[in-house]
Amino acid sequence: MDRIRLGISSCLLGERVRYDGGHKLDTFLRDTLGRYVEYIPVCPEVECGLGVPREAMRLIAAPSGSRLVTIRGGIDHTEKMLAWARAKVAALEKMDLCGFIFKSGSPSSGMERVKVYGPKGIPVKNGFGLFAGVFMQHFPLLPVEDEGRLNDPSLRENFIERIFALADWRESVQNGKIAGAVVGYHSRNKLLILSHSPKHYQAMGRLVADSGRMDASDLKQQYENLLMEALRVKATPAKHANVLQHMLGYFKDQLAPDEKQELLEIIASHRQGILPLIVPITLLQHYVRRFNQPYLKQQTYVNPHPLELKLRNHV
Ligand code: SF4
Repeated sequence: MDRIRLGISSCLLGERVRYDGGHKLDTFLRDTLGRYVEYIPVCPEVECGLGVPREAMRLIAAPSGSRLVTIRGGIDHTEKMLAWARAKVAALEKMDLCGFIFKSGSPSSGMERVKVYGPKGIPVKNGFGLFAGVFMQHFPLLPVEDEGRLNDPSLRENFIERIFALADWRESVQNGKIAGAVVGYHSRNKLLILSHSPKHYQAMGRLVADSGRMDASDLKQQYENLLMEALRVKATPAKHANVLQHMLGYFKDQLAPDEKQELLEIIASHRQGILPLIVPITLLQHYVRRFNQPYLKQQTYVNPHPLELKLRNHV
């Protein structure tokens, strides 16, 4: 797979672009995830022409939507920021981004729960940064997260799984016949999709069954939309248990009763939060190799992102 392109708030990579000349380096993002992705850094406040250092800003509630205003001088930068943001998202369309990691809490870059100050100066955490808002409206299905939410192991695993799945999808459909590519991609990703959303799994199965009769670009768009919607639904221990038991079914004639019992107990322990997901997955991978199970061998569910990221050690 080509390197995955991700947009990111520049200060998270250690760039000194904050209003006071500082940064908000996140070492996991720069040093660990950074080994697998190509970052496209974006600092809305610097890129729209506000410079470093600059006066700190905040969002002020207004009937037409939040305004981006400097705290001491009261200068309103809303129009300047929005004009720049609209041009920036159009430029980013050509970058083939698989997602964006925003800086939490920022009146320009925060994706949710950003403080919006009311007339009495009391903040309510219900806003989003102006650039982040324009970005999410322009790319509604693209995976987005902020560095704060990515400290949650299940949100981190989910986000990284989504960007790898999207990059794989784009690579699968970039050349050749779309219908064949969709069938191939779907068959490799069935269990991954099932672990997130049985409802989308059914709908995508029906779409794939119809793929030979559909217009190629409609098929591609509809499948991509369903894929991104499906993977946005949180995978839970109960849904994982369903998929893991389904996988166990492939070995029902090959495993001894005590081996089956052991696997069932490990799956139950994961479901109860006693063992991380990596434990049942590792044992199943062992059986996939031992019995050379061709369908399970190709499933991205057993290996959706690099093992070195240790994402399934904590979910
Ligand atoms: S939060 Fe956004 S606007 Fe603020 S310094 Fe970081 S990248 Fe720039």
